[in-house]
Amino acid sequence: MTAAAAKGIATRGFAVSGPEAKFEPFEFQRRELGPKDILIDILYSGICHSDIHQARAEWEPLIPSLYPMVPGHEIVGRVTKVGSEVTKFKDGDIAGIGCFVDSCRECGACHHGIEQYCIKGSAQTYNSTEMDRQTPTFGGYSKHYVIDEAYALNVNAPEEALPGVAPLLCAGITTYSPLKKWGVGPGKKVAIAGLGGLGHMGVKLAVAMGAEVTVLSTSPSKEEDAKKLGAHNFVNIRDDEARTAAAGSFDFILDTISANHDYNAYLSLLGLNGVMVIVGVPTEPAALNAFSLIGGNKVLAGSLIGGIPETQEMLDFCAKHGITSDIELIKPDYIDTAYDRTVKADVRYRFVIDMANA
Ligand SMILES: [Zn+2]
Ligand SMILES: [Zn+2]
Repeated sequence: MTAAAAKGIATRGFAVSGPEAKFEPFEFQRRELGPKDILIDILYSGICHSDIHQARAEWEPLIPSLYPMVPGHEIVGRVTKVGSEVTKFKDGDIAGIGCFVDSCRECGACHHGIEQYCIKGSAQTYNSTEMDRQTPTFGGYSKHYVIDEAYALNVNAPEEALPGVAPLLCAGITTYSPLKKWGVGPGKKVAIAGLGGLGHMGVKLAVAMGAEVTVLSTSPSKEEDAKKLGAHNFVNIRDDEARTAAAGSFDFILDTISANHDYNAYLSLLGLNGVMVIVGVPTEPAALNAFSLIGGNKVLAGSLIGGIPETQEMLDFCAKHGITSDIELIKPDYIDTAYDRTVKADVRYRFVIDMANA
C-alpha cells in the first residue's frame, strides 16, 4: 500500500485497509518540519485496546474508521531534527506522543491545558485529521512522526525502560488523571476494578501515591499478580462473601473494566461520599439504579486521558517512582496475533511494538 505522494518526509509503517484486513507494510509521507515541529524516530509503540476497536471499526458510527489506518498513540522515540523555533527539545532527546497531536489552541479547554476536551475536537494521533480537517493522521506503528513540540512530551527514563514507558502515554495518563483529581493518597482506601492494561497502571500509580489499594477482579487467578504489582488487598467480585465483606469500604473506585458489568454492584462497595470514576468503555449501555448514588451521597464520574501539562506531570511522577508498564515486546509481524490475544486478555499487560528494529 502507498498513500498519494505529497511533498514531505518519506516514511513507512503498518496499516490495515479495512475492518477485516491484516496489517501490511504501508509507505506514506510525514509533513516537512515547520518552525515549531520536531521529527521523531519512533522506537516503541504500545498497542492500546482502542487501536483494536478503531482498526476493526467497532466504534462506528460514533467514531468512523478511516482507511488505510496506521494505529498507535502510545509512542516513544528519539528526536532527530528540530524546527528553527523549537525550545523544548534538542537532537537526541527522547520524546513521547499520546492520544492527540494538536487542538484549536483558542478555546477554554485548550487554554487550561485540557486539550483532550477541546471544543473543536483535538486532532487525534491516528484515525483522524490535522486541524485543517483534511490531512489524515497516521499513528505510531510507523518509523517517524512529525509533531508540534507543544503536543510532544519530554521523556526522562533510562534507555532500557523505554519500551515500558510507551504505554504511559495512554494507559498511564488515563489512570493517573482521575487518581490525582479525586485526591487519592495516604489514608485513602482505593479499589481498582479490573486488572488489564489500564488496571495494572492504576494499581502501580495509586500505590505510589500512598493509598491503600485493593484490586477487584472476577478472576481469582489475578490475586497473585495484584499483590506483585503492589496491591495490598484483593477481592474476587464473584465471591458473594468477599463482596459483602467489602461493601461500603472504599473512598474511591477506578473502574477500568471494558466488559459489560453492573455499575450498581461496584457502587455498593463505596462508603459515604465515595467516588467511582469510569475509564473503561463497555460496548453496551448500562442500567443505573438511582439509589446506588443517592443512598451514600456518592459520585459516579468519567475521565478521558489527560492534557499535555498533566501528561508531563505523570511522566515525571513515573520517572521519580520508577514506574513503567509491564509489557511484552513484539515485532510488527505479530500485531494481528497481539490484537487477538489482547481481546482475550491474554497479555500481561500491554503489547509494545519494537519499531526501532522494524
Ligand atoms: Zn489508548
Ligand atoms: Zn480548543
